[in-house]
Amino acid sequence: MTVRTRYAPSPTGEPHIGNIRTALFAWLLAKHHGGQFLLRIEDTDRQRLVEGAVEAQMETLRWLGLEWDEGPDKGGPHAPYTQSERLDIHQEHAERLLAEGWAYRCYCSSERLSEVRKAQQARKDPPRYDRHCRDLSPEDRARIEADNTPAVVRFKTPLTGETFTHDALRGEVPFANDTLDDFVILKSDGYPTYHLAAIVDDHLMEITHVIRGEEWISSLPRHVLIYQAFGWEPPVFVHVSRILGSDRAKLSKRHGAHAALAYREMGYLPEAIINFLALLGWSLDDKTEIIDLDTLIRAFDTDRLLTNPAVFNAEKLEWMNGVYIRNLSPEGLAERARPFLEGALGQPVDAQKLAQIAPLIQERIKTLTDVVEMADFFFTEGPLKYDPANLLGKKSFAGEPARAADALASVISTVETLDGWGHEALEAAVRPLAEEMGVKAGELFAVIRVAVTGKTAAPPLFETMSVLGRDLSLERLRAARDRLAAAG
Ligand code: GLU
Repeated sequence: MTVRTRYAPSPTGEPHIGNIRTALFAWLLAKHHGGQFLLRIEDTDRQRLVEGAVEAQMETLRWLGLEWDEGPDKGGPHAPYTQSERLDIHQEHAERLLAEGWAYRCYCSSERLSEVRKAQQARKDPPRYDRHCRDLSPEDRARIEADNTPAVVRFKTPLTGETFTHDALRGEVPFANDTLDDFVILKSDGYPTYHLAAIVDDHLMEITHVIRGEEWISSLPRHVLIYQAFGWEPPVFVHVSRILGSDRAKLSKRHGAHAALAYREMGYLPEAIINFLALLGWSLDDKTEIIDLDTLIRAFDTDRLLTNPAVFNAEKLEWMNGVYIRNLSPEGLAERARPFLEGALGQPVDAQKLAQIAPLIQERIKTLTDVVEMADFFFTEGPLKYDPANLLGKKSFAGEPARAADALASVISTVETLDGWGHEALEAAVRPLAEEMGVKAGELFAVIRVAVTGKTAAPPLFETMSVLGRDLSLERLRAARDRLAAAG
């Protein structure tokens, strides 16, 4: 048997991290078994469509490397993969259920349905369709249809007995049929509901494992009933755990959870997101946190999926991103970070120079956007913008611009005559000056740091100066000295 899984988003907005976790599990299961992963767009709820949502889904999957084998843009043996282009197929299947007595047309108006609901609420009965049209006589039907009354198609749920559902993680769960509704499978506009469309398409597309969020488990008995009515073998159902915030409330922005693509903007690496999401409801061995994609594919199966809610931890994601950033080669980090720097600076950034800088900042950043703050001064031209008070700091040089100007003057004259511009030579030349001045080395370095970077915190000073080069370093040191002298 070839394992075939699908991700079946409704294009109702940008995919959030929970949607993508479901997609990832479906993708991993297919890859693990050498099977196929499909993308199907479930756009039959026309009221909830959001423009651009399909593109956002595809863009997210592509960014994360979750390529699909069959899908709306790619085609495949079961095309089309967009449900609104399959209405004839869904309608034919609804007709078949009607013809075989598994379903019936219901002509109740929305006014009638809301009255029924109100009466049920008043009696504190569970709200559900009262099956008014279930047993209409053929004559009544003919009379109503002669008026062109709009109709929906409802499934004829058994009134007694139990429906046995099976979920790969939860085992067999029986549902009493008298708790189930005669649910709508085809709306009056000819569009199927999710229940009909998903089952028909999963069957026709030969899906072997339906992986979806736990919120769908209450729909499972209805789906099993539809499978039984068609006489089809159901796929393996896998309902993956919910994802909660750290306070165990429903996950939201408040917990640091965002639309999936927002993480790209924030400078997260796709491989870190994948690793993080894989551990939301699955584990390799209860302890390993950093797991590369090959290992995920090799190890992933449904047997280690958890049913307990997973807890989203934004700090853990940030930490994980830092780990993946540190594992990049300098060239790799440069390549990933370059667009962020170019965006912030509004100018092209030299990849080779950035690769030289990468080792200086790699240990210090958690996201690619941190690179901007850490490294922009390597690329800015002209005078640096900073508060001159930062040059003086809070210790020996505080309130003493003339002294700080003298200190920089002696740094300048010392390094000006150096043969090379390597960081070791620079440090060997500058460090003794502090002692001559009677200040701590760190205090002198702090003045130099602000002078050459414009910042009070920056990558290691002498390596930074070495990468900045002699001319730019001296130019900035002189500019700082002049500012101090003017103030003193
Ligand atoms: N269209 C459904 C959703 O977006 C998919 C559920 C399923 O995977 O069957 O939630």
